[in-house]
Amino acid sequence: MRWQLFWVAFCNSHQHVACKCHSMASQIISKTITTPGLLSRFNLHPDPLCRVCNEINDISHILLRCQKYASVRVTLWRKLNIASTNITYDVLLSHVLVNKNQLLIFVQTLKYFDID
Ligand SMILES: [Zn+2]
Repeated sequence: MRWQLFWVAFCNSHQHVACKCHSMASQIISKTITTPGLLSRFNLHPDPLCRVCNEINDISHILLRCQKYASVRVTLWRKLNIASTNITYDVLLSHVLVNKNQLLIFVQTLKYFDID
């Protein structure tokens, strides 16, 4: 897969390969990250809805739609050269994976999203 090639290149250039942002970003990119929305599908989380928006609180809600992160998103979208405010998860990933620099911007911004 394409993202894995980027990931290998990214980790090799970075000292803290085992840091939390790496595992979180790799889960986001491979879409295996656990969110309340995903956990509720397996009856592991009692509340799959976002308390702010009342939508299923999955990773695409958090990154693409949640009102809680509107201002973080504006900044991130500008840095990633995303013009549209209404994009899909795959379009986001395609921008993140353009090059190592974009991936680094994305990883650094993840700390502003309350994902876990
Ligand atoms: Zn929300």
